[in-house]
Formats: sequence, C-alpha cells, structure tokens
Amino acid sequence: MSYIFAPPPVVSAPIAGAAERFPVHRIYCVGSNYLAHAQEMGRSGREPPVFFLKPADALLPVEAGGTGAMPYPSLTHNLHHEVELVVAIGAGGRDIDSALALEHVFGYAVGLDMTRRDLQSEMKKRSAPWCIGKGFDHAAPLGPITPSARAGAIGAAEIALRVNGQERQRSPLSQMIWSVPEIIAHLSAAWTLCPGDLIFTGTPAGVGPVERGDLMEASCTGLEPLRVRVS
Ligand code: MN
Repeated sequence: MSYIFAPPPVVSAPIAGAAERFPVHRIYCVGSNYLAHAQEMGRSGREPPVFFLKPADALLPVEAGGTGAMPYPSLTHNLHHEVELVVAIGAGGRDIDSALALEHVFGYAVGLDMTRRDLQSEMKKRSAPWCIGKGFDHAAPLGPITPSARAGAIGAAEIALRVNGQERQRSPLSQMIWSVPEIIAHLSAAWTLCPGDLIFTGTPAGVGPVERGDLMEASCTGLEPLRVRVS
C-alpha cells in the first residue's frame, strides 16, 4: 500500500501509570448534562440527551504532571472552559444495555470541552451546526486516563475547575442528568461505539471565559488532574 502523502499520525492519550498509550478513535460529547448548567444555558434540563462530536485530532493530550499549552483559538472573543468527566471506551458495541455498559469502559479522565461560545451562540441563533464553536484545533484538552479498576467509585466523585487558583466549577458527578451507563446506551443506539472512543459527559454550572495566560486546573476525585495554560 502506498499513499500520495503520509497518513496522519495516530492521536493518542497517556494512561496513568502505564507506558502504553490509548489510541483515539472518535470524540463524542454530551450537551448540557447537569441541571444547573442546562438552566444557565436557557433549557429546562428535561430534554433528551444532545450529542455532538469533535475531530479526534482536536485532542490536546497532557502528560501526568505536565501543563498543556492551548493556543487561544482564532475568530473568538469568548473562549469558555467546560470541565468534564471523560469516559474512555475499551470495548465497542451497538445497542449496549445500560446494565452492561460499564464493561465497555477502559477508564476515565478529566477533560475540558473548550468552546468558542460567541460562535456557538451565533450558530444556535441561526439553527445551524455548532462545529465551529466546538470542533476547532486544540478544543479537547485531556489528562491521563486512569483505568476503571484504579479510578474508584466514579459515581461518588466530584469534579472541579480552578482558573488562576480561583474555583469556577465544582459538582458531584451524581448530579449528571444522564449517568455514564445511560450515555453509553443512548450513544450506542445512534453510533457503533469502538475501542478508542472518548466521551465527554457534559459540564456542571459555572462555565465562563478564559484569556491568554490563564492557568486552568481541572480535577476529579480518583483521577489524574489536568493543567492547561492558554497561550
Ligand atoms: Mn460540554
């Protein structure tokens, strides 16, 4: 097999405590999955789940103990942080029953669903797709993936984000409208899930802007933290 130019490199994420890396297939995201955030975005929180995707190469993987550098993206004047639990799929499938869904999970990480909010809002007004607001380069910073067995009881965990040392977001994961098994069941009815898929599971309330030079520190109980500086 020969190609007319070199194929793109495999996108991958670090795994906590392992030399092997997690090769990334797709990046799925869940829209408004915490009641308080749904309400701050003008919805009731009772709607069925909303899914969207980011390109796999929008991933900005950050090594354990490192600080990622996210270039401030073009076209926006309102870059928002959204801290999220990220599910890493290890075994694929279709129409997965929620009772068996956790068997498909390899592990969990903390991620940031970075959003060009002004562009997303403009597209919403026009009833047009959000890609330009969500799927830009470096739009998905991700910390190391902790294998499920070492992540502890994720259902009892709390997720948080600090910007320049100030807390902006904090919530128990139990406040998610759609649980991880329910998300996997819904997603796998619409797409065939594959090993290497990442699922950003939605953000709690408190989203807001970051500027060049800001340091974002995302954390979740039982998982490796994620540090990213906007550059
Ligand atoms: Mn989000």
